[in-house]
Amino acid sequence: MTSLIKKLSGVLGKEQVYTDDLTLIATAADAGCYRKIPKIVLKPQDEKQVIESLKILYETGTALTFRAAGTSLSGQAISDSVLLQARGQNWSNFTILEEGTLIRTQPGITGTRLNQLLAPTGMKFGPDPASINSAMVGGIIANNASGMSCGTHANSYATIQSARIIFADGTLLDTANQESCKALLKSKQELVSTLSRIRDDIRFKPALIEKIRKKYSIKNTTGYGMNSFLDYSDPVDLILHLLVGSEGTLGFVSEATFTTIPVKAFRASSLIYFKNLESACNAVPLLREANLPAIEIMDREALRSVEDNAGIPDYIRELDNGVTALLIDLEEESQEAMDAMVERTSSALSGFSLVRDFEVTSDLKQITDYWNVRKGIFPSVGGMRKPGTSVIIEDVAVGAEHLTDAVIDMRRMLDELDYKDAVIYGHVLDGNLHFIFAPDFHNDAELKKYDNMILQLTRLIVDKYDGSLKAEHGTGINMAPFVAYEWGEELYGYMKEIKKAFDPKGILNPDVIISDDPQIHLKHFKPMPVIDEAVDQCIECGFCEINCLTNDLTLSARQRIVVQREIERLSRSGEDAEKLRNLRKSFKYQGEGSCAGDGLCAITCPLSIDTGVMIKHLRARNNSRKRPGNPIATWISKHFPLVHFGVRTGLGFMSAINKVVPFKKIWIWDRHMPRPVKLNSLTIPDSSGDTDKMKVVYFPSCINQSMGTAVRAKEKKSLVEVSVEVLEKAGYEVLFPRGMNKLCCGTPWESKGFFDIADAKSGELEQALLDVSMNGKYPVLCDTSPCTHRMKRVMSDKLDLYEPVEFIHDHLLDKLELKKTDDALAFHVTCTSTRMGLQEKFITVARACTKNPIFPEEVGCCGFAGDKGFTQPEINTWALRNLKLQVNQLSAGYSNSRTCEIGLSRNSDIDYKSVMYLVREAIKE
Ligand SMILES: Cc1cc2nc3c(=O)[nH]c(=O)nc-3n(C[C@H](O)[C@H](O)[C@H](O)COP(=O)(O)OP(=O)(O)OC[C@H]3O[C@@H](n4cnc5c(N)ncnc54)[C@H](O)[C@@H]3O)c2cc1C
Repeated sequence: MTSLIKKLSGVLGKEQVYTDDLTLIATAADAGCYRKIPKIVLKPQDEKQVIESLKILYETGTALTFRAAGTSLSGQAISDSVLLQARGQNWSNFTILEEGTLIRTQPGITGTRLNQLLAPTGMKFGPDPASINSAMVGGIIANNASGMSCGTHANSYATIQSARIIFADGTLLDTANQESCKALLKSKQELVSTLSRIRDDIRFKPALIEKIRKKYSIKNTTGYGMNSFLDYSDPVDLILHLLVGSEGTLGFVSEATFTTIPVKAFRASSLIYFKNLESACNAVPLLREANLPAIEIMDREALRSVEDNAGIPDYIRELDNGVTALLIDLEEESQEAMDAMVERTSSALSGFSLVRDFEVTSDLKQITDYWNVRKGIFPSVGGMRKPGTSVIIEDVAVGAEHLTDAVIDMRRMLDELDYKDAVIYGHVLDGNLHFIFAPDFHNDAELKKYDNMILQLTRLIVDKYDGSLKAEHGTGINMAPFVAYEWGEELYGYMKEIKKAFDPKGILNPDVIISDDPQIHLKHFKPMPVIDEAVDQCIECGFCEINCLTNDLTLSARQRIVVQREIERLSRSGEDAEKLRNLRKSFKYQGEGSCAGDGLCAITCPLSIDTGVMIKHLRARNNSRKRPGNPIATWISKHFPLVHFGVRTGLGFMSAINKVVPFKKIWIWDRHMPRPVKLNSLTIPDSSGDTDKMKVVYFPSCINQSMGTAVRAKEKKSLVEVSVEVLEKAGYEVLFPRGMNKLCCGTPWESKGFFDIADAKSGELEQALLDVSMNGKYPVLCDTSPCTHRMKRVMSDKLDLYEPVEFIHDHLLDKLELKKTDDALAFHVTCTSTRMGLQEKFITVARACTKNPIFPEEVGCCGFAGDKGFTQPEINTWALRNLKLQVNQLSAGYSNSRTCEIGLSRNSDIDYKSVMYLVREAIKE
């Protein structure tokens, strides 16, 4: 092992080769129910490094598994040997070709990002798995993933044009390059002759041709893509199409080119309710004839699982047992064509007695809500399960003619096996059905029951309906023992030959697709110990990772949970004291210290799990262990005016030094640091007593009571002065809470786990705001987004609370006449504004002030996280790594949190200020 690590470090560099316990545990899980702990994790930076790594691993006969986003469900993205992860900045290059009809891309970019990039061309990426926001091209190709509408006509198999493929021994093939193809035909003669022979054999056997054609008339990802041998003759084409759906068992894809598909301009959706499962299934063939692009089924249990989700209609709770919904999508190029499609759909439904009238919506928000509800079924069921249980999703497909019978048989089978809570749903347009249930694999009886269920399912789907055991999620280790059963020994024999010809030493993803172990699907289950009720429902799907700013820097939100679960398991079992110690030690910074606690992970988590809450609980436990009574934090909370004085004095001192000493960066001090706020700008005027005048309560956050504009900025007025100026110009009388310099919303304490102090501070502030606002009669403006977010969470509903953007949008835009500047200006929506759903209002405010607002792409939470930007600037730098190139030609940037603005300025080299400054500039005099 040591010499292998040395060799790998030699070609990748030490920083790309991980063997520490924390990384190994953190990467042990994908989204499925299995776990394998790798011995080495590789994060190569480019194609050359993959080639060199593979050469070494091939030479030494070392097994390895590739991973992109790790959202697989069948146990195909995990390894107990070497895990090679290719995603992120170095794997996200793309080129849009031929006016968007083609796209060339690296494997570490998500499907949704491709769609964003293609949007201006009116085209989209073909494959559309429900996981498309997180799933990456490498995994989408290797699983031949598909979703609600791509069926078999727009999946990777159908749309891939060419690829750069690295074989197990490190040989590179560029299928678009003739020289490369010629070289391969010479260097891999055995592979080429095996594939040619299999092709000729199959084409000579009508029974096999019929079987293959039939099986691929519906979705199928069990085993290798045997349709390649009928659809393609040329060995290079065969290699390219066999790679699709090969789950990393035949080679690595370092780049691929796809044809894209047009986006139709008119879209609508409808949720149609039938009395029972049977009549819903019976409607599917008629709806299919209406030419709908997507039809999804949700049985009563599935509807129940999402009835509390946002966007789901209230009446769902009242529906009778057995009621089943079809969610349909309608897409057309013109309104006339859309009207005709609605008409066809309506007449297809005319013979059914529906539970509610057929209604179609073209409201984009409602359409998105409906489909989010559908996408949320799997995680929602996962979230409702008993703590400690696993969540299993099955994924079968049957021909259209068998749909109703198959669904009824499946429901009966699940009920008889006492999986009564199991939920059935799926892409019925393609005969693709999922069911989900939550067994406890630590209980022998449940394990046996699961085994029995799999046996019955395979018999039902294969013997009775000649269907697919895995329609879209890939075979993995979950269905590997049943590939031969589905395909028959002869075709399975060819699959084994294919594997051997591509990967003679069997190093690529062993036991996935092809396995000699008939029990492999019953091994390696994930342990799921209970750790904290804030996160216990997490199914480790990884959807949080796109929003977690420390993903790929330290740990992602999912990885924090995975590691905590292992720490809990080890401390309960006493199994490996040294590993436990290592994990605890490394977690301190990588897990706990580096978590920004911004809660953005909750936005993309289908269960809205905020991993930051778990981290804050850990901090609280550590605080009370280290310093019972928390004397320092308590002292600070009780001497807040002194703290303000200290901060202002410190800032004043540093600013003064900078006036005489040439400007330099000293520790955290640089030109983006703030000057102190002048005390006289914080004097509270008495109320005018004018009862007719509009009033607003203004609470300047403690930060804005101390920190002014940047030391080098031309603008010298503090935010407090500017906000008052703007509010008064809009006709408001501004009221301040009494004892303002003692008040704080409690965020600094909450983020560090001092919950009691945080609540005491917010309680004080709440009372002061209730007093000054006449019990909520006047709106309250706080000038800092994160503070307002906490205030909204913990304070009385009587208070009408706003941060600057929402206040400007709701209360100032109609009262001020603004002149738009021609300047292109940058805007940063803070994570708390995102959590408060203010993105659209941010855009409106920006557009009211400039003709050219820039919201940089792929910039989420800035990572300043209160004071972390001062103490751990590397997190801020990492979070804003995509910012500078997009904005450094602009004259200024605007946001709504002072500390975030410091971090944004530092990492962009332009001056960021509150959006209030921009409004003041825009007011027509
Ligand atoms: C809630 C939820 C919903 C889902 N819905 C769907 C759905 O509707 N349809 C669907 O098809 N799937 C679905 N999935 C499964 C999964 O998200 C998809 O199959 C997805 O395409 C996997 O992509 P990934 O980037 O996560 O790949 P990973 O899980 O990282 O890897 C997938 C496979 O690809 C291999 N691989 C990764 N990168 C490469 C590469 N560069 N070269 C070669 N092989 C590589 C891996 O070894 C592995 O075998 C869902 C998953 C979840 C959790």
